[in-house]
Amino acid sequence: MSCPVCGTAICSESTTIDGITIVCPTCGEYDISYTVLASEQWQRLEPVERCDVLLEAKRSAQPGDCPVIATYSPFLARPAPSKLSFSRNS
Ligand SMILES: [Zn+2]
Repeated sequence: MSCPVCGTAICSESTTIDGITIVCPTCGEYDISYTVLASEQWQRLEPVERCDVLLEAKRSAQPGDCPVIATYSPFLARPAPSKLSFSRNS
């Protein structure tokens, strides 16, 4: 499996109650919920925006706690990223 955030091959993964704990050589260790992985919002994000979501999760995690990417993450709660409207390739 590859990292859901950066796409790098991950060191390890283990399942939690509602998601997966990822250990990525680039991103470090974090939890991501199945709900997020399956969500349209997450799948629409650019890799750089996924990194922002992870950074935000790291910022809001308690010291010593594993950052968690969940549906209440600000990036995932907002509507579709407006910059997508600039790329009209069709
Ligand atoms: Zn990663």
